[in-house]
Amino acid sequence: MEKRMKIAALAGGVGGAKLAYGLSKTLSNGQLSIIVNTGDDFELFGLYISPDVDTVCYTLAGLANPLTGWGQVDETWEVFQALSRIGGPNWFRLGDHDLALHMERTRLLHSGLSLTEVTQELCIRMGIKDHVYPMTDQPVRTIVNTVDKRKLQFQEYFVKEQCIPEVTGFEFSGIEEAKPGFYVIKTLTEADLIIICPSNPWVSIDPILKLSGIVEIIKKKIVVAVSPIIGGKTIKGPAAKMFLELGIEPGCFEVANHYKDFLKGFVLDSQDQEEASRVSDLGIIPFVTQTVMRSMDDRIRLANEVLEFGMNLFRKGI
Ligand code: GDP
Repeated sequence: MEKRMKIAALAGGVGGAKLAYGLSKTLSNGQLSIIVNTGDDFELFGLYISPDVDTVCYTLAGLANPLTGWGQVDETWEVFQALSRIGGPNWFRLGDHDLALHMERTRLLHSGLSLTEVTQELCIRMGIKDHVYPMTDQPVRTIVNTVDKRKLQFQEYFVKEQCIPEVTGFEFSGIEEAKPGFYVIKTLTEADLIIICPSNPWVSIDPILKLSGIVEIIKKKIVVAVSPIIGGKTIKGPAAKMFLELGIEPGCFEVANHYKDFLKGFVLDSQDQEEASRVSDLGIIPFVTQTVMRSMDDRIRLANEVLEFGMNLFRKGI
């Protein structure tokens, strides 16, 4: 990969972070910028928690817990256990080290820095060489509408109710007023290649895409996406269940279809090879490979393949 090439990645949490890690290991300092969903952000105990940004940063810094997909590795749970003993809310598990990060983030925000500036500062302290940008500095909150007519805050749905309620749709409260971050616009405008990581299209990528001006910018670019759905199922999380509940066949084809207004290339798993021709029919170039990232080597191999695929489209001027 030529060093002057600029790569932007859009990501949510677990799936997004894994590919972002592979891209980070493959690209040189400063080449990679990762734009991360903040629709899952919320406050607890007065602390500002940004789950997807944290998953991406912990993963890039080598601090992520590979078993849970959230939080830090080698955590201790003193505060959480003490909190449970005194009857505090314990539905959202926060380890001691994780808690320390939320405390410091909140302190920096209260000192007047924006979420983008705070994230930059925390990335430097964690030794991350890539740029990680929250999608916006303003509050956007993902609301999950359920079949029993409730409007759940995202973490209530995801963690407290463990994705059990049947969904009817999603709202992104604050999206109209929110502006994409300054560096988000700059990154996308200057990018030679934009990669949509294998993240949940509905609740991880859509909030980024629905910010004003984003789709207009990326329509002019080479955008490739990696499917988060393999053989009609997710590796983790509710994406496939959401497709079903929304009345859409869960499968990689529908992921490509969801992004068809701006997508140039689509990476689908070898298990879904037979879907490639349907993807082509959408006018999107398919690329079939092994997309399950079990090991660190898998992440790097997939990142290399996605970059090569994307750069080929770039060279051909597609
Ligand atoms: P969340 O915000 O933590 O739910 O994380 P994301 O939205 O970034 O990722 C969830 C999606 O990642 C799910 O649809 C998973 O199927 C997908 N995913 C997780 N691991 C992998 C993987 O190794 N390969 C692929 N292709 N998708 C993955």
